[in-house]
Amino acid sequence: MSDTSSRPAPRVLGVAVPSPLRRLFDYRPGGDPPAGGWQPGLRVRVPFGRRQVVGVILECRDDSALPLATLKPVDACLDDAPLPEDWLWLCRFTARYYQHAPGDTLHQAMPALLRQGRALEARTRERWRVTASAAQEVPPGLARAPRQAELLAMLRQHPHGLVTQAVLAQSFSRDQLKALVDKGLVERLEEPRTATPAGQAGPLLAEPALPLQREQAAALAALHEQLDAFHPCLLHGVTGSGKTEVYLQLIEAVVGRGRQALVLVPEIGLTPQTLARFRSRFRVPVVALHSGLTDHERLDAWEAAASGRAPIVIGTRSAIFTPLARPGAIIVDEEHDGSFKQQEGLRYHARDLAVARAHRHGIPLVLGSATPSLETLQRALAGDYRHLRLTQRASRHPPARLELVDLRGRPRRGGLIPPVMEAIESTLAAGHQVLVFINRRGFAPTLACHACGWMAECDHCDARMTLHRQPPLLACHHCDRRRALPDACPDCGSADLRPLGSGTERTEETLAERFPETPVYRIDRDSTRRRDALEQTLTEVRRGAPCLLVGTQMLAKGHHLPHVTLVVVVNADAGLYASDFRALEHSAQLLEQVAGRAGRAAHPGRVLVQTLHADDPNLRLLAARGYDALAEQLLEERRAALLPPFRHLALLRLESPREPAVSELGGRAAAALREHLAQRGLEVDCLGPVPAPMERRQNRYHLQVMLGAEKRSRLHEAGAWLTAWLEAEPAARRVRWSLDIDPQTLS
Ligand code: ADP
Ligand code: ZN
Ligand code: ZN
Repeated sequence: MSDTSSRPAPRVLGVAVPSPLRRLFDYRPGGDPPAGGWQPGLRVRVPFGRRQVVGVILECRDDSALPLATLKPVDACLDDAPLPEDWLWLCRFTARYYQHAPGDTLHQAMPALLRQGRALEARTRERWRVTASAAQEVPPGLARAPRQAELLAMLRQHPHGLVTQAVLAQSFSRDQLKALVDKGLVERLEEPRTATPAGQAGPLLAEPALPLQREQAAALAALHEQLDAFHPCLLHGVTGSGKTEVYLQLIEAVVGRGRQALVLVPEIGLTPQTLARFRSRFRVPVVALHSGLTDHERLDAWEAAASGRAPIVIGTRSAIFTPLARPGAIIVDEEHDGSFKQQEGLRYHARDLAVARAHRHGIPLVLGSATPSLETLQRALAGDYRHLRLTQRASRHPPARLELVDLRGRPRRGGLIPPVMEAIESTLAAGHQVLVFINRRGFAPTLACHACGWMAECDHCDARMTLHRQPPLLACHHCDRRRALPDACPDCGSADLRPLGSGTERTEETLAERFPETPVYRIDRDSTRRRDALEQTLTEVRRGAPCLLVGTQMLAKGHHLPHVTLVVVVNADAGLYASDFRALEHSAQLLEQVAGRAGRAAHPGRVLVQTLHADDPNLRLLAARGYDALAEQLLEERRAALLPPFRHLALLRLESPREPAVSELGGRAAAALREHLAQRGLEVDCLGPVPAPMERRQNRYHLQVMLGAEKRSRLHEAGAWLTAWLEAEPAARRVRWSLDIDPQTLS
């Protein structure tokens, strides 16, 4: 402290200000100097244009590209101490790696209240405790206040005190507490809300860890080997093999050494069930970061992690930006999951940032999955990551194999053909549950005219509108446009309009007609708009009575459904012939995850996969030998085709309501980049501009330019040049553009 305050004040502060521009803005110091001196990481309030904004100092310098006299002073410094150092490092890394504006990166990576200038401190709560003297002897003078005497007696039984809520819950009042405080019998303490309940020092575990199976034990032993070094591992275990138990026991070791563990889970995976598993194992606080928190709760959680008070932090994508006082391990569960990549604004991948962060801290990193991404699998196969395998399920039933069912030439009802209906019937008759997976919500993918072939299309997108029955309407799933159902064909006037294909609503309807005695639960985005609707349904399902579940990929992942013994995939063909080179990988992951829902407890399971392409070699390989075999083959194809993970990509996306504006700018940007690459001799190729797979979306035209390079550093150099060119280009202000480093989809 003393050496920073004696340091001469810098003349210039480089401040990251919320703005899309990829640079810092220079200010002069102003207001009261902070106690520890001016330094990077302090938040400041600064004038910016006509507004006052909160920014973060990233540089302290004595010079500026502008004359010092023209710099505005900062209005005030908001912090006594800089924001956490590990967090600042991660934000800087992220801005650089993803070529994103530093100010916007910092803003997105901090809780809303910090963005608004609030102090980084947790809210507190009151705790009431008997004083030392009152604990010794029975004080006289409470005879005429029997409730106070009872309250005192209760508090005496809790030597660490009780929080206000616990006192009020016993029908005592604040006045009674105050009276005891005034008599010197009780004292009032203040503590952060996220504090460990006092008196819980002692064993770390609230319940014993499970005795591990042989493979689990081997994986854990490998993780224990290096707890003090960067040690990236792929925990590659079939669904139900007990990866979570390995995480829990690794965390036990980490927390036992006084360190913190950060666990990232997919959006769909942070269920009350998952949280309960962590919370019931440990007696220390488990802080959860998810979209349901209020701003205050989020700040409390952030502060608890930053101060080190929370030994275990679990959260979805953005939780990667949680500061940790004593980082000990990072775990990314279902590392292949698409929700770890943010698809707008700051397009970061939380898994990849987890790798960078674990490397920086020198701590173990566990990437867990039954169906690892090809990126991660390649690194494990190449020996860059330790490859830990779990091939046995805890339940001892091997995961079910996919059985392909040929759809060709067979009548379908609600998307299902007769032999599949019969399998459903016999499963229900045996008293088991059935899960029907269909990757399309709504009643039918579209509405068509049987007389002339017209199909309902969105006015704003190059896409068909989906037919919904509950409520009846046409909706575009790309722009959320809605339309009333037409009575007649708008082209030929025929009234013979029919739904084409099946979505969840239609399959639900068909199954409800066919099995009137059996409850049918539909689970998709429409049926689970209420936050707890999904959990309620799943609680009902876990009771075990025979039932039918019809759902989209919301059902495919993470949920433990022990009574499901038959899984039906209505149509496996979506990813087989898609133009996106990752479509097959993602589709195979999804199929394997869906299949993993079958037979997780006492009974073995079956998985029936309906397809129009039962001869497709990839699908057959997946069915016969599983995801790992297909993944290794896909890696060979990617290697031959020079695609990730053997090549690095960046995608420039351009969009505008005016088609000429995007194509003109896209053409000039690509030409300028090519010229630059040629001049500098950079080994980067530049493809495009080409229209995006769906060129018109939300009435805007979408265009892309793809950059590819074998060396990552070259790609970044080209990306930096391109973003600088666009920032300096006046025409680019009338077009929305973004650069996506390591794009996960080409749409
Ligand atoms: P995964 O995360 O690999 O899908 P889970 O960790 O959810 O698998 O484990 C699946 C089931 O097996 C859970 O019910 C879990 O309690 C149980 N399980 C895991 N490990 C063991 C073990 N060593 N002994 C007994 N049961 C186990
Ligand atoms: Zn018609
Ligand atoms: Zn649309």
